[in-house]
Formats: sequence, C-alpha cells, structure tokens
Amino acid sequence: MKIELVENRKQKPDFSKLGFGKYFTDHMLVWEYDESKGGWQEQRIIPYENFTLDPACCSLHYGQGIFEGLKAYKDENGNVTMFRPRDNFKRMNKSAERLCMATFDVEEAVKGLEELIKIEKEWIPSAEGTSLYIRPFMFGTEAFLGVHPSKKYLLTIILSPVGSYYANGLQPTKLIVEDHYTRASVGGTGEAKCMGNYAASLLAGEQAKKKGFDQVLWLDGEEKKYVTEVGAMNMAFVIDGTVVTPELDGSILRGITRDSAIKVLKANGYAVEERKVGIDEIVKAAHDGKLDEAFGTGTAAVISPVGEISYKGENIIINGGKMGAVTKWLYDRITGIQRGKYADDFGWVYAVE
Ligand SMILES: *Cc1c(COP(=O)(O)O)cnc(C)c1O
Repeated sequence: MKIELVENRKQKPDFSKLGFGKYFTDHMLVWEYDESKGGWQEQRIIPYENFTLDPACCSLHYGQGIFEGLKAYKDENGNVTMFRPRDNFKRMNKSAERLCMATFDVEEAVKGLEELIKIEKEWIPSAEGTSLYIRPFMFGTEAFLGVHPSKKYLLTIILSPVGSYYANGLQPTKLIVEDHYTRASVGGTGEAKCMGNYAASLLAGEQAKKKGFDQVLWLDGEEKKYVTEVGAMNMAFVIDGTVVTPELDGSILRGITRDSAIKVLKANGYAVEERKVGIDEIVKAAHDGKLDEAFGTGTAAVISPVGEISYKGENIIINGGKMGAVTKWLYDRITGIQRGKYADDFGWVYAVE
C-alpha cells in the first residue's frame, strides 16, 4: 500500500452538530482495477480530493456504480471498532457481480479500510449516537461509449463523522405506501446496493415529502401487494407479539442490520418470522388492534421506529405514534453491542488495532 499524507489537516467540525454525511476526513483510499494491467493495482491512501474523469467515463453514461455503508466507533478509552466490515465487502462483491463489475479480495479491502481508519482516528466522534460513517463505492472508469462492462474500475473509500441520522433523533417516522412507482422487482437489481436504485426511488420520495411523509414504503414490483422495504432501510412489524419481516425475495436489499436484528431477537427469545407480508395483512392487523409496532433497520439510523403508515388514503397510527417496547429494546441492544456495552456473542465487532 502507498500512503501519501496531507501536510495540514482540516479544521474539525463541531462534533456535537455533525448531522449526516456533511463532513469528510483528510484522506481517502483509492484502489484501481485495470484489466490491461492484470486487475487490481496497489491500494493507495491519498489526500481527500476531486476525481479527474474522462467525459466518456462509462459509469456516467451507463451506471455501473455500487456502494456500501458501515460504521466505526470509538469508546471513551480511544478503542476503535467497526461493525461487521467483512459482511459489507462481501455484499459489495455480490453487487459487483450483478452489475458485471470486477470483484475484489474481501480481506484486502478490510485491511485497506483498517489502515485508513487508523490514519483518521482523530475524526471518530465518541459521544452516544455518533460514529464514523464509512462509504466504500466503486464505479466503471473506462472511457468508451460502446455498451459493455467496463475494463477499468475505481474503488474508493471516504469517511464522514456523523451524528444521529435523523434530525429529530429517534422520533418515529411517517411512511406512505407507494402504489404507483416501484423500486425493484424480482430479477432486477433490488438486491444490489447500486446507485441507480436510489435514482429510481427519488421521485416517489419527493412526492411523499410534499404530502408530509418522511419516506416511502415500497411494495413488490409485480402485484403491489406485499411490503418490501423502505429504500434505505429494511422493514419489520410486531404483529400480536411476533416480529415479522419480509423474506428476502431477490428484490429486497440484504440488510446487515436486518440480519443482526433477526439474530439478536431470536437469541433473546423473541418470535421472528421471515415471510411474505401483505400490505392488506398490515392494515387488517392495525384494524384488529394487533399491529403493536413497526420499525426500519439500516446502518445509518440502526433501528428507526415507524409511527404512521398511510395506505390508499388511510393513516394508520402505530403504538400511538410512539416508539414501542420491542423497537426500543432492539435499538438499545444493537447499538449496545456496537459500542461495547453488551457482549459481542456473534463476533460482529472488529477491533481496529
Ligand atoms: C443499505 C440498504 C439497506 C440497509 O442495509 P444495512 O446493511 O442494514 O445498512 C436497506 N435497503 C436498501 C435499499 C439499502 O441500500
């Protein structure tokens, strides 16, 4: 690995007013792939700077682009950890396969990231609810207008100290079920963490905001009958005491927080079901007084309570619009494992040496 350090570090922002994804650290990791040079080149850590791209850069035209999101934490004693980094890079390789992009060695990626984190250690906030958000991303860089998989890629990792994902803290979010647009369908790219999925979901998201909702709850692309996910979060409901979450059908992103939640809940005696979840079932459960709670899972917000779901003009208020007991327990448990408050029984915490 080649390392080129900045001469002068940037002034750090006020760690009590970080927001999400607004500030970036002094360095980034770049890892180039070039088929004509035998594939992956030496990783480099360089000052955070602009890219220079050819206007014919293929991903700007045809969208071969994927990303990941994970977090690093620092405790009061200055110990730094990451949460499940290997799982993120494994998923990134799956996304790469789906988009015909180059795959890489997961261990090498984790090692490179660890090196970058060590260099940026002073950028990691340690207060409750704060962390260093890690954004690996990769895109095709070959300059060529014909349509074929790129022969060159750039995998980059940037870091951003973050506060709480939601400006209003753990306030329950309001979702509106989207019954016109779709985010993904089986056989499409819904399971890949690719840039285009987000572009495809923006319009519905903007329309939801105009109507006073925070985010869209997506249904399956074929029948628009089954709940899939929220677009940056997976979705779960507590129905009559059982935690129910849509099964992974190929159109739903395989969330690592979703997986962590299922494992932690099961290990602590909660009943969890992964299966098809009809939107009609949710409405009926609400009418019958059995929709106890609803929450989203995702790296950025970890566990996000849902207080309201609107479907076909009906506003369903969940648990009086307040965070429920299971949601609260889960939030405390997962963030507690991430921050070292609870034992790491699943081997998820990666110590940065
Ligand atoms: C990243 C993402 C999630 C959440 O995944 P985590 O691994 O838990 O962060 C859910 N849905 C979509 C579409 C995503 O891109």
